[in-house]
Amino acid sequence: MKYVIGVDLGGTNLKIGGVSPHGELLFRTDMPSGVKEGRDAVLKKILNAIEETRHSIKGKKLAGIGLGIPGIIAPETGTVIQSPNLTGWVNFNIKDVLADKLPWPLYVENDANAFALGEGWAGAAIGINNFCCLTLGTGVGSGIVLNGRLWRGVDGFAGEIGHIVVEPDGASCGCGSWGCLERYVSANGLVRMAEEGKDDRLAAPLLKSCGGVHGVSAKAIADFARHGDPFCIGLFKRLARYLGIGLADIVNLLNIEMIVIGGGLSNVSDLFLASAKEEMLKRSFKVPGRRVKVVAAKLGENGGILGAAFIAVKAGAY
Ligand SMILES: [Zn+2]
Repeated sequence: MKYVIGVDLGGTNLKIGGVSPHGELLFRTDMPSGVKEGRDAVLKKILNAIEETRHSIKGKKLAGIGLGIPGIIAPETGTVIQSPNLTGWVNFNIKDVLADKLPWPLYVENDANAFALGEGWAGAAIGINNFCCLTLGTGVGSGIVLNGRLWRGVDGFAGEIGHIVVEPDGASCGCGSWGCLERYVSANGLVRMAEEGKDDRLAAPLLKSCGGVHGVSAKAIADFARHGDPFCIGLFKRLARYLGIGLADIVNLLNIEMIVIGGGLSNVSDLFLASAKEEMLKRSFKVPGRRVKVVAAKLGENGGILGAAFIAVKAGAY
């Protein structure tokens, strides 16, 4: 019996798991990705976690490894062309560098693309041929599946929905533009909006609890919003409105069957998804707006692992 390993490298967390041919998770481990410690430190963590996974899964043969990496990827060569969240990874051929140490077939894909394929394989979008996944995490990732296949774009840059402009004169973004969706509809976006509003008298309870503006986290904002804090509820309202604008753009452009919302923030989707849908319906064309299902991802924490594993499965690792 064979299995594959899926590696989900995020800006914050590194998650690795062994996965059966049917999409069943056999073992998983996670740790902070520690991207600030530099590229070599991250690669070492990946190798150690793969080793740990191999030792934990007895009596089965490893058939291949899929790597999901946040950034623009050239899957055919395994090169990270550009990554806003991984400094020092520009034009870095991770496949070549790891090939010596990992003598199994190795497949590299953009993490959000991998996540989308995973949701199509074993999650919310089983049997759906035209859908798109947004991952609301540290930033916003997305993967677009059209006619059952990933739409990468001619240069691999397609699906950067996180960089749709929702506020023309808004916050500047690492991509070189201003007011991108990612600056509002992500964990970093929430924290940034809280910083922006720090002088608001309503912000005082949050700031006090977090030990000042630099201690504020998306989790604290969500906890406060859940307990009725008006400042944090206001931040989620802003997030929902911007997300709705982005969703309407996707619907009008693609007329797809489903939009799957994943990533860390999807754990608190009850705080924003319903009002984001309302905003979307106000702005999108009626027929595609009513047709599209906007749903939370099903694979949750393990979506990235399963998606990366599926890259290896799909490429014929079994
Ligand atoms: Zn941007």
